[in-house]
Amino acid sequence: MELKQYLSPDDINTWHRMVGQATNIVVLGHAGPDGDAMGAILALTHWLHKQGKQAVAMTPNPCPDFLSWLPGFSDVVFAKMARYKAQRLLNEADLLILLDFNAISRLEDLAPSVEACCAPRIMIDHHLNPEHCAELIVSDSAAAATCEVLFCMMHQLGAYDDIDTDIAECLYCGLMTDTGAFAYNSNRPELFHIISMLLDKGIDKDQIYRNVFYSYTEGRLRLMGYLLYEKMQYYAEEHTAVFSLTKEEMKRFNYVRGDAEGFVNLPLQIKGTRLSISLREDTEKALIRVSLRSIGSFRCDQMAEQFFNGGGHHNAAGGTLPNPMSEALKVVDQAIAASREQLINIES
Ligand code: 5GP
Ligand code: MN
Repeated sequence: MELKQYLSPDDINTWHRMVGQATNIVVLGHAGPDGDAMGAILALTHWLHKQGKQAVAMTPNPCPDFLSWLPGFSDVVFAKMARYKAQRLLNEADLLILLDFNAISRLEDLAPSVEACCAPRIMIDHHLNPEHCAELIVSDSAAAATCEVLFCMMHQLGAYDDIDTDIAECLYCGLMTDTGAFAYNSNRPELFHIISMLLDKGIDKDQIYRNVFYSYTEGRLRLMGYLLYEKMQYYAEEHTAVFSLTKEEMKRFNYVRGDAEGFVNLPLQIKGTRLSISLREDTEKALIRVSLRSIGSFRCDQMAEQFFNGGGHHNAAGGTLPNPMSEALKVVDQAIAASREQLINIES
């Protein structure tokens, strides 16, 4: 089966020139890194090490614990916890590779340091409308994950043999998490071709599933029950669910980072649901994180841009609102009202 050839002959030259000339490479993932961001930055970092490069994986802040099994995890620099080291690495960098985000602003607190860094940039991503902030941009919004784009790129560059079990585990993690374990956004045969090529590298996909999805805290499960039973509002006519989570509630359920991961998908299990919106108070900043998920034609990215200072993909998007929660919930009401006709009449 043919895999996508993302790189033109010029792109291939550019890649070899940029990576060839670089000695100190910083491989960056977005703030609030998920399985795809972590998988992609670690896979690429491992590969660059094999090419004799000094490469460091970095994200603005830490990822949830359920990703800590990833090979190379302990070497990732979480800038928030290692400010000076992160700044030194950026000062010394002669190449930045940006993975799984389409705009420098997705680096949040780390964005100013990266803006100020003079090193040339390469972006590899799968979000819509990439910002023109890199010399080489390899982006495909049809790809299930950045890890898919990265795999195809490596394959095109003749590096399939360089993919060892560690790299394959990292890539598989990105594919698995960004598709909800192949429950959505994963209908293309090429994806399963790639998975079989990763299985050939000796990964244990069942173990990876357990590492990610069977390693939560007791608090998370109880919080899930609470949110669904007590907090979820269901607008039957609009086929839309909304729930919110405050810091106080998080404390009550001994919340740790990642405990709310994926909750926004749960209401989609109600038959006929077309849109799910979750609001969560940020644990560090005075703002509210908004997540949107839809099934079918409803455009989450457009709602996120219009109402929540964000963006994302067609069926999964996010953004932020200022505190307090009561005001944020009003914005959600306005957003639903603005799309009411569409949500009511949307095809099942
Ligand atoms: P999540 O709901 O998992 O936080 O985010 C889902 C998707 O929405 C992400 O993959 C990303 O594309 C997008 N997204 C989330 N938060 C933001 C944000 O603050 N700004 C933008 N532009 N996109 C976001
Ligand atoms: Mn992704």
